[in-house]
Amino acid sequence: MNKEVKLLREDGLRLDGRRYDELRPIKIEAGVLNRADGSAYLEWGSNKVLAAIYGPRELHPRHMQNSMKAIVRCKYSMASFSVPDRKRPGPDRRSTEISKVIGEALESVIFTEQFPRTVVDVFIEVFQADAGTRVAGLTAASVALADAGVPMKALITACAAGKVEDTVVLDLGKLEDNAGQADLPMAIIPTTGEIVLMQMDGHLTPAEFRKARDMAVNACYQIYEMQKDALKRRYAAE
Ligand code: ADP
Repeated sequence: MNKEVKLLREDGLRLDGRRYDELRPIKIEAGVLNRADGSAYLEWGSNKVLAAIYGPRELHPRHMQNSMKAIVRCKYSMASFSVPDRKRPGPDRRSTEISKVIGEALESVIFTEQFPRTVVDVFIEVFQADAGTRVAGLTAASVALADAGVPMKALITACAAGKVEDTVVLDLGKLEDNAGQADLPMAIIPTTGEIVLMQMDGHLTPAEFRKARDMAVNACYQIYEMQKDALKRRYAAE
């Protein structure tokens, strides 16, 4: 968080030419893997993310089963080559945290009680990271779950907003994330407006928080259309 870097241009646009409330370009494709039960590939700016679903299937070892409901297990990982300096492979504190919050968000929409004793495995692989990978991963995983046919009450859509140079902006890029003042990743259930993930890094005043929240939620509705479109294209292709 460093205020010295100039992130907003004289012409009122951001360094990458976006307006304050403009998303990076997003592309979603459902059903890209043959071996997984469901999958989705998502590009969001320079982020490249793949989500794969296995299950619901019987959970082993059996002592880990829940006799009342399915367990949702999420594993978010970033490839060594996903960031400019090689990332040490394997789990770390950050990926453990992201896996936890994404898994909990997804569990809130899956009808887990319909599949006692089973597990639904959600794998999120980040091939290229450029800030906002948790919202990209969650958005992709939700499409992949629908592609797998896992019964869910709704899709989940995620997006972040934040603050750079005392200005609230949507969907921070890497430079904005590094040099900005706050980041607010959020996820909602678009059909109900319910918030299923919200984290905050940095500081926002209550008014800035409300503005950032509204910006992120509005963007989620745009992304929701892209998720539905990816699923429609997937099933039209069959
Ligand atoms: P998110 O990707 O959800 O925004 P963070 O705010 O923790 O999550 O990370 C912001 C960005 O910082 C990531 O998208 C990635 O580009 C970069 N980053 C995260 N971890 C590492 C790492 N170990 N090495 C280099 N860059 C990283």
